[in-house]
Amino acid sequence: MANLSNFRKLKRFSLLVFTGFLFTQNQTKLNSQWGFAGHQRINEFAVYLLPAELQAVFIQHLPYLISQSVAPDQRRYAVQAEAPRHYIDLDHYYKKGQDPFWNLPQNWQEAMDCHSEDTLQAYGIVPWHVVRMKYRLQKAFEEKDLTLLLKYAAEIGHYIADAHVPLHTTENYNGQLTNQHGIHGLWESRLIELQAENYNYWIGKAKYLPSIQKEIWAAVRASHAALDSVLRFEKMVSHEIGLAEKYSYEQRGSTLTKVYSRKFCEAYHKSLNGMVERRLRAAIMMVSSVWYTAWVDAGQPDLRKLQLEANQKKDVTENDTIQKINTRWKQRSCH
Ligand SMILES: [Zn+2]
Repeated sequence: MANLSNFRKLKRFSLLVFTGFLFTQNQTKLNSQWGFAGHQRINEFAVYLLPAELQAVFIQHLPYLISQSVAPDQRRYAVQAEAPRHYIDLDHYYKKGQDPFWNLPQNWQEAMDCHSEDTLQAYGIVPWHVVRMKYRLQKAFEEKDLTLLLKYAAEIGHYIADAHVPLHTTENYNGQLTNQHGIHGLWESRLIELQAENYNYWIGKAKYLPSIQKEIWAAVRASHAALDSVLRFEKMVSHEIGLAEKYSYEQRGSTLTKVYSRKFCEAYHKSLNGMVERRLRAAIMMVSSVWYTAWVDAGQPDLRKLQLEANQKKDVTENDTIQKINTRWKQRSCH
């Protein structure tokens, strides 16, 4: 299975440099994966759902939690084991008409016994990795290691977010098997770019989750259940709009870039009937709830006096996005 594993990783890497919705004239390809904006937004709003005691600490480090929400994608080239942590190709494990999960144990050891580790790695391990990361986060809470707990909190947010994307649960992750190339970035980047400001982020409060394993597998199941609509409606709307109007050009910096047109995106978004917003909201709720659960399971340590290590401060990127977010938070806290 080693060769297969390498082949799959290569395929994934080729996607990682693909925006899906950005086709520059010289075919330069960028990163996608919920888009950076999606990941940043999910970690940001997850902080707002926390109970006051935990939120008081996390809010101080909001820029770090947001900037590091994309760290797992950024290191995919440097760390060989990283790529499979972002997806699971469920369709490898079942045939049409079968329950996708009938032959896929949720427990890591049982899954390895059933399929071998090579196979699991080849087809993605996101749900198992989220469970592993939760224990790391819990341990960091127990040890009151602020540097580590913020790092794990930011990064588990990334993996949970990926598990909420339907196209992270299939071998046809970019529509390459159904002649829908680019759909990955369309769904998780372009639609977010155009629509996310209109979504409702009043989601409630983080909940204690008795079983992270059960919750993350439920998230993956819901993502996979939405996959058929993601693909089918893209075909339907493409047919209705026609190729000439499906794409347009927008200025990105100094480059004129071919993108899915606003008209097409609006029609596709409408046909999905709130799906992107629902998956985004579910991801935010789960990220916040997993942070909260790890803290509770660690015995609710008092974190208020902890200080960031100096080297971590260097990782915080003060960019436009974060400044905008801080402004929004200030406005919100005035109510
Ligand atoms: Zn990812």
